[in-house]
Amino acid sequence: MHDPTIPNVNIGVVGHVDHGKTTLVSQLTGSWTDRHSEELKRGISIRLGYADATFYKCPKCEGADSWSNTDTCPICGEKLEPVRSVSFVDAPGHETLMATMLSGSAIMDGAMLVIAANEPCPQPQTKEHLMALELTGIKNIVIVQNKIDVVPQKQAVENYKQIKAFVKGTVAENAPIIPVSAQKKINFGVLIDALNTTIPDMERDADVPPIMLIARSFDVNRPGSSWRDIKGGVIGGSLIRGVFHEGDDIEIRPGRQYMSENKAKWEPITTKITSMNKASHKVPVATPGGLSAIGTKLDPAITKSDTLVGQVAGAIGSLPPVWDKLKFDMTLMDRVVGSASEQNIDPLRLKEPLMLSVGTAVTVGIVMAAKKNQAEVILKRPVCAELGSRIAISRQVGGRWRLIGMGVLTE
Ligand code: GDP
Ligand code: MG
Repeated sequence: MHDPTIPNVNIGVVGHVDHGKTTLVSQLTGSWTDRHSEELKRGISIRLGYADATFYKCPKCEGADSWSNTDTCPICGEKLEPVRSVSFVDAPGHETLMATMLSGSAIMDGAMLVIAANEPCPQPQTKEHLMALELTGIKNIVIVQNKIDVVPQKQAVENYKQIKAFVKGTVAENAPIIPVSAQKKINFGVLIDALNTTIPDMERDADVPPIMLIARSFDVNRPGSSWRDIKGGVIGGSLIRGVFHEGDDIEIRPGRQYMSENKAKWEPITTKITSMNKASHKVPVATPGGLSAIGTKLDPAITKSDTLVGQVAGAIGSLPPVWDKLKFDMTLMDRVVGSASEQNIDPLRLKEPLMLSVGTAVTVGIVMAAKKNQAEVILKRPVCAELGSRIAISRQVGGRWRLIGMGVLTE
């Protein structure tokens, strides 16, 4: 039986800036994901945030009211047993941070699309994030209509109709729309019920070589710690299959950059797992789904400040290839979304730079050959990826990276 206090799925939290994503995650989990000093100063999320929640069911209450995120029933006061845990991946909603959002989408099993009820729908990143979900193949979506505490009922109904019209014909066409107030914790039972139905726990392959996509990496030592107390580098991310055990030797690719004959080259990093955490529990085995933090013997200078984001960790000798050129089949969209002026998308141009998101990696590639549905690029930074991986393609439009289409790695 799966331990109900350990998450098995990652739920992305996406949507336009200021619509209440970080507040919602904080109210569902009890932890504020904007921790970085720059995030606190500017009041926006910059990096991927993550936090876990455990959901409880009251045996005495009925329907959606029986669900809560606390171990005491908010309605009848009954002491509750945990039923299920999930990890949330809080994506930044600011238009300049699409790369981070796309990197996060690689580890999302489903998503909450947060839409504020007090603004006309859709706002630019509401559109762009939904398109990203669509292109990256994330189908299990719950729409959260937030801030219902600040709009009269009539406006909430009007906004609901706008949302319905907006998602028509998209992957979210039949997604449940749950009105909530993240700030006042209104309607959380119904929201949790919808998450459980729409984004259920998943069966995963545990009996294969492990592969983890790295979404964060840290130096967890306080400045000035004595060398005796220094802890090794920590990597955070999601196993997409297989399991890690404490003491496993692992490899990280592409790894470390070094210069040879004036050329940048990359060599895999190998290390040993010293500890593992899931949902703030120490665990001897890290399983797929949910987010895991892996303690290693690496020098923390190698893992500090998200240095290893986008890399892949796994059993030594069993990782996918590292590519410095990519060939992919692609589908470009008709129009750019996400900015006020929605221009048509022209074909790829030779030598143009593209931003490519592959797994949690984000890299720039220069177009070397392009046909209508196929392209070849040379990468500035190599990526570790399996054949058949999805590639989100963005191009510079009006000085910003805009998502323009999706590719599939062919060689
Ligand atoms: P994010 O950019 O989507 O992560 O948005 P934040 O969670 O940072 O919230 C943006 C602002 O909206 C903050 O000032 C929040 O306090 C406020 N906010 C979030 N949820 C609600 C809500 O349900 N009701 C009201 N009135 N304000 C909210
Ligand atoms: Mg935020």
